Amino acid sequence: MTTFYGFHNNQIPAGMIAALRAKGSLPVSIDDCSVFPGFCDVHVHFREPGFSYKETIGSGSAAAARGGYTAVCTMPNLNPVPDSDENLAIQERLIRDQSLIHVYPYGAITVGEKGEQLSDLEALAPRVVGFSDDGRGVQRDEMMEAAMRRAKVLGKLIVAHCEDNRLLRGGYIHDGAYARAHGHRGICSESEWGQIARDLELVRKTGCGYHVCHISAKESVALIRQAKAEGLDVSCETGPHYLVLDENNLREEGRFKMNPPLRAREDREALLEGILDGTIDCIATDHAPHSAEEKSKGLAASAFGIVGLETAFPVLYTKLVLPGILSLDRLLELLVWNPRRRFGIPLEDGDLSIWDLNAEVTVNPDEFLSKGKATPFAGWRLRGKCLATLCSGKIVYQSPL
Ligand SMILES: [Zn+2]
Repeated sequence: MTTFYGFHNNQIPAGMIAALRAKGSLPVSIDDCSVFPGFCDVHVHFREPGFSYKETIGSGSAAAARGGYTAVCTMPNLNPVPDSDENLAIQERLIRDQSLIHVYPYGAITVGEKGEQLSDLEALAPRVVGFSDDGRGVQRDEMMEAAMRRAKVLGKLIVAHCEDNRLLRGGYIHDGAYARAHGHRGICSESEWGQIARDLELVRKTGCGYHVCHISAKESVALIRQAKAEGLDVSCETGPHYLVLDENNLREEGRFKMNPPLRAREDREALLEGILDGTIDCIATDHAPHSAEEKSKGLAASAFGIVGLETAFPVLYTKLVLPGILSLDRLLELLVWNPRRRFGIPLEDGDLSIWDLNAEVTVNPDEFLSKGKATPFAGWRLRGKCLATLCSGKIVYQSPL
C-alpha cells in the first residue's frame, strides 16, 4: 500500500505515482511505501563557485535528492562571494548547468562576507532567497542595523549566523564538561546567544524579518521564544545533530566538529522543547562538506562542518518519531512546510520522495553521493530508506535495488 503523509488534500500525487508504476519507472517490487512532499533545507553549503574539491552543485544536489530533498538554499561563503550582480551570476550559471533539484542561493549581507561594507542588496534581492553572511557573524552593530533597514525595504529576510568573535578565544568545541575533561578549548554559548540578543534589539528597532541559523544553546531558544511572544517577525532553525547528540557523544574525531558545537544535555533538551512548542520553525542540516584531509585532524585542527542531507530524515524518524517524541506530521512541518512558508519556496507539482519506513539501514559514508563523508552518524543503524525522489515529476534519485 502507498501511504501519503504531509500533503495538503488537493496535492496528493496518487495519479503520478500510479502512472510511474504503470510505466515501470519505479521499482514495482515495493508495495509498502510512504510518500512525502519534497523536503526543503534552508541551510546548505554546495561550495561552488570556489571550493569544488569539497562539493559541487552536482554532487550536493545528488546528495540532497538521496535524502528526499527537492529544494535547498545555498549559503554564500563561496569564492567569489555572491555579493554583487556579476558574482551571483557565476553561481547562477553553475546551478543552471548542474543542479538536479531546486537550488535557491542566498546573497551575502556584506562584501566578501567581511563585515565592512554592505553588498549590493538591491541588485541581489530579486534573485536570492534572503541575505546571510553565514560562516561568520556580522560583528558591528551599525552594519547589521543598516542591513536590516535595507532588507526590510526589499522585503527579504536577514538570515543570521550568530557568533560574537570577541568571545571565541580559540575555542572549537562546547565550553563544557567534555572540553574541561579532555583539555580542549571551549566556545561559550554566549558567543551565540549574545549576538541573537543584539539582533533582536535591532529587529525591534527596524521591523526587519529575521531568521536565526542553527541555534544550539538553551539561552537562544529562550530568547526566540520571548521574541515570538512579543510578536516580532522572527524564526529559527536547528540541525538534526543538535537534537540527537550532545557533548557526551563527542569523540576525538573531526566528524564530531561543527560550528556551533554540540553543547550540553540541557541545551539538547531545550532544543527539543523548542521543536515541540513551535519556537523552532525548521530543521536544517547545515550540510557542510569538506575533504577527508581537512576532517582528519581531530577536534582541535579539523575544519568545522559535517554533512547531513543523506541522513537527516532517517536520523530524525528513528530517534524522534519512532520513540514517540515527535509525530511524523510535525516532523514534516519542520522539514517541508515551515521552511517553504517562511522563505516563500513553493512545492512544485511532482516534488516528492518515496520511502520504505520499515527498511533498516546502516549509515555508510562510502555510499554518500556527497563528496563530504564526515558524519557523527557513521555506523548508526536507522529506519527509513529513500527509494526514489522526484523533482518537478522527474526522477532525480532512485536507490539501487
Ligand atoms: Zn553558520
